Amino acid sequence: MAVIAFGSLLFSCNSPEPGKVEEKDFKFQVDQFADCKVLRYQVPGFDSLSLKQKELVYYLSQAALCGRDILFDQNYKENLTIRRTLESIYSDFTGDRTTNDFKAFEVYLKRVWFSNGIHHHYSNDKFFPEISKEYFAYLIDNSAKAQWPLKDNSETTEAFKTRLTDLIFNPNIAAKRLEQAEGTDMVLASASNFYDGVTQKEVEDYYEAMRKPNDNQPISYGLNSKVVKENGQIIEHKWHSGGMYGAAIDKIIYWLDKASTVAESDNQKQMIVKLIEYYKNGDLKTWDDFNVLWVEDDSMVDFVNGFIEVYSDPMGMKATWEAVVDFKDVEATHRAEKISSAAQWFEDHSPVDSKFKKAVVKGVSAKVITVAQLGGDCYPTTPIGINLPNAGWIRRDHGSKSVTMENITYAYDQASSGSGMLEEFCYSEQEVKRAKEFGPMAGNLHTDLHECLGHGSGQLLPGVTPEKLKNYHSPIEEARADLFALYYLADPKMIELGLIPSLDVAWAEYDGYIRNGMMTQLTRIELGKNIEQAHMRNRALIAHWCFEKGASENIIEKKTRDNKTFYVINDYQKLRTLFAELLKEIQRITSEGDFAAAKKLVETYAVKIDPTLHKEVLDRYAALKLAPYGGFMNPLFVPVEKDGKIIDIKVEYPENYVEQMMKYGKEFSFLPNYN
Ligand code: ZN
Repeated sequence: MAVIAFGSLLFSCNSPEPGKVEEKDFKFQVDQFADCKVLRYQVPGFDSLSLKQKELVYYLSQAALCGRDILFDQNYKENLTIRRTLESIYSDFTGDRTTNDFKAFEVYLKRVWFSNGIHHHYSNDKFFPEISKEYFAYLIDNSAKAQWPLKDNSETTEAFKTRLTDLIFNPNIAAKRLEQAEGTDMVLASASNFYDGVTQKEVEDYYEAMRKPNDNQPISYGLNSKVVKENGQIIEHKWHSGGMYGAAIDKIIYWLDKASTVAESDNQKQMIVKLIEYYKNGDLKTWDDFNVLWVEDDSMVDFVNGFIEVYSDPMGMKATWEAVVDFKDVEATHRAEKISSAAQWFEDHSPVDSKFKKAVVKGVSAKVITVAQLGGDCYPTTPIGINLPNAGWIRRDHGSKSVTMENITYAYDQASSGSGMLEEFCYSEQEVKRAKEFGPMAGNLHTDLHECLGHGSGQLLPGVTPEKLKNYHSPIEEARADLFALYYLADPKMIELGLIPSLDVAWAEYDGYIRNGMMTQLTRIELGKNIEQAHMRNRALIAHWCFEKGASENIIEKKTRDNKTFYVINDYQKLRTLFAELLKEIQRITSEGDFAAAKKLVETYAVKIDPTLHKEVLDRYAALKLAPYGGFMNPLFVPVEKDGKIIDIKVEYPENYVEQMMKYGKEFSFLPNYN
């Protein structure tokens, strides 16, 4: 499960975080186009790693880049053909590159890279180039040296041109990557490449027949395969060496194999060897075995590499390929350890009904990490926290690893420094000042509390499963974790544990949370649309519920100045009491599986937007000329060799997004056009 980095996007910070070295000349934002900005992150502490650890980071980073084509193909079966066509034009076009048309073409190409395909990474809608079909034809005609990704030897350039024009410009082809609307056949209506020639019903029946009732260690069926119908039979094309995506997987295996030679411990070595075994056999039992080894490994250098998150599959079964390479931030991890070691205390003192509390809290292993490389579905848009593995039975029997990616949030904060967001949406200078001073610290603590305590707290009554809340499960679950974090941020225990210097940290978070839930997160939604995304629904739910419940005591006040709206917290302690009250109710809903109450809360507070306020927020945001979605370029690790032996690894920070993308397209592209 991943925490999405939207909340922190809206913080602005001028002061560096305590304990971090400020590098005045480091450029955090390097590009901006359409609704995207490209940032860079630093890898502090890399130079202090041992040579062996640096090598390990290097090999794992190479492995993290080798699966890039897999994600493009998973997102849509034509994505590799389209990307290769655009890249060929970009390198071989001999016409004028200074025209507005060519610049618009370049923006489209950047968007395709950014979203790993032709659908918006967040809304899932197909997006289009702001050029004419005629200009697209002109680009192809004037790129004579280009090697086009033709369908087969018989396809002429003319036929190819017609086919690609249709794929790119026709709004009726592959309109949505992910379709979740009720009443549609979600499998047939989604353009993602997880199924071919089968209906939703057929897929459901196929996997239903596989599941064993009362299995205590259920396999995550369908996680690593495409389902197709061949000769009337439904079969799976598995993703492994020798199978679908085998060419890219073999490269991943090559680098993992090198990594295993410099592993930090026997356990880590075994774990990497197990992952290689899984990539070779595609057996999901081997995948579970790997995850058990992974969750128990506590090495300094760590990684995520595999088919993991299922957010992109309408059926919630097929996992996209992703990779992260990281190492422990030892100092900051002490903070997370303080929280996780007090997990039982937090559980015992939470404001929820005692019958919904866990008697014994177990398996919370929390650390703060420094990200060294992002790949697949984590590149360029990355989560800021991860809690894995996803298999419920492994979490139950072996626990989970919860990580906070602090150099990523730090880069977000630095990049938005001076964006003007706070000055625009805070009511008072004091609020701005407090946000700048304590916002980043508050944000990191919020993530720690949300990830390593919030999601793990509480228990369901016997016989209740999460599916009882259906489509309301995600926003309710996120609200539960957020409320847990909000409530405890202002607890005297936080000062006692030495986690915050004063309650000002909590109040900075309260200000930011209400501001975001009531207004600033609306910058990511088009006028006239509802709130759809689970994390955003959760924030709207909490903010609007508290605003309404606190109205009689004026706990949160709506103010207007110069025709601009602001939400001001008048009583922080009373707001904390409201958080407690809502947490109690949401825990009850979760524990009892009260679908009707979940539906009512979400539909009342978390879906609809006041159109007047929405327009105002969009106008104010537009005036700041910012991009709502952030993604990251990767650092580059360069081995230094002497007499054929690696004697050091240097880290470089490239700053040209186009160059990095063209380089990846050349050096890390291993799959055929169609898979
Ligand atoms: Zn969460």
